[in-house]
Amino acid sequence: MFEQLGLIGCGLMGGSFALALKRAGLVKRVVGYSKSPSTTERARSLGVIDVEAPSALLAVSGADIVLIAVPVSATEATFKAIKHLVTPQMLIMDVGSTKRDVVDAARRALREQIGSFVPAHPIAGKEVSGVEHADPDLYSGKQIILTPIERTHAPQVQQAIDVWSALGCNVLKMTPESHDAAFASVSHLPHLIAFALMNSITGQNQGKDFLSLAGPGFRDFTRIAASDPHMWRDIMISNREELLTQSKLFQRNLQALELMISNGNADALEELIGQASQARANWSMNKNRR
Ligand code: NAP
Repeated sequence: MFEQLGLIGCGLMGGSFALALKRAGLVKRVVGYSKSPSTTERARSLGVIDVEAPSALLAVSGADIVLIAVPVSATEATFKAIKHLVTPQMLIMDVGSTKRDVVDAARRALREQIGSFVPAHPIAGKEVSGVEHADPDLYSGKQIILTPIERTHAPQVQQAIDVWSALGCNVLKMTPESHDAAFASVSHLPHLIAFALMNSITGQNQGKDFLSLAGPGFRDFTRIAASDPHMWRDIMISNREELLTQSKLFQRNLQALELMISNGNADALEELIGQASQARANWSMNKNRR
């Protein structure tokens, strides 16, 4: 049981964590701070936080657990803002979708206090953002990836495992590097392709008419294109090296298919489609990630 959660970033992810922690009876009080006072005020009026803090530093004051749930580009400034009140006993976590840049920012900003920080990425979310969409069930039954480094204190890693497990998550540990490589391929690239596809269609004169004819396959394929632009701008720039590597691989595969189509090479085309179809049929999402 924690005495006080210091929540920095009272949006979808942070608000959902606060609600889940409260519902599980794991925290007595939530003190929250967001960039706009109106967001912090809304979080309090919705019962997501109990007390509004006027700064990130004051949200951390007196907290034994801190969650940083801001856009990844704001993480380093947040670490700098709170570093004077970080204690060796405190558990600090984030929820950022990229991990190498967050860990580098923590190394630069937290320095000798970095042991209190356990980097975390919940594989949960929605296409909508904002505290009004905060949901105490958001994390239940989902995967959470922790990417501790050699300097992360073991007791904090265990606390992080315990708290996410208590919220019904399946906890997995990996290095920040392997996290970013994997998610460039299975999350960041699919978003990039979905954004490019929507722009490619809507950029045509008849784009609107084409869209009016689209069916369930198109709906499923493009669901993630409705994601938050600010968040995805940050993720793509933060993980640019891995994302561009994956994008090049994808382009090579696209070109191979295009060549077969332009040559009318039906057998080769069928074989490549067959490979993809078989790989998709063999893949099943871990039930913890629904
Ligand atoms: P969100 O609903 O927009 O919430 C972000 C919150 O951070 C907002 O309340 C915003 O306040 C606040 N904020 C922005 N800059 C800040 C700063 N410098 N200091 C303090 N607060 C600041 O976004 P979200 O979906 O919760 O995303 C938060 C993090 O979760 C991101 O790092 C994202 O990568 C990660 N994530 C998201 C998902 C998803 O599906 N949404 C999934 C996994 C991980 P204002 O309202 O005042 O701007």
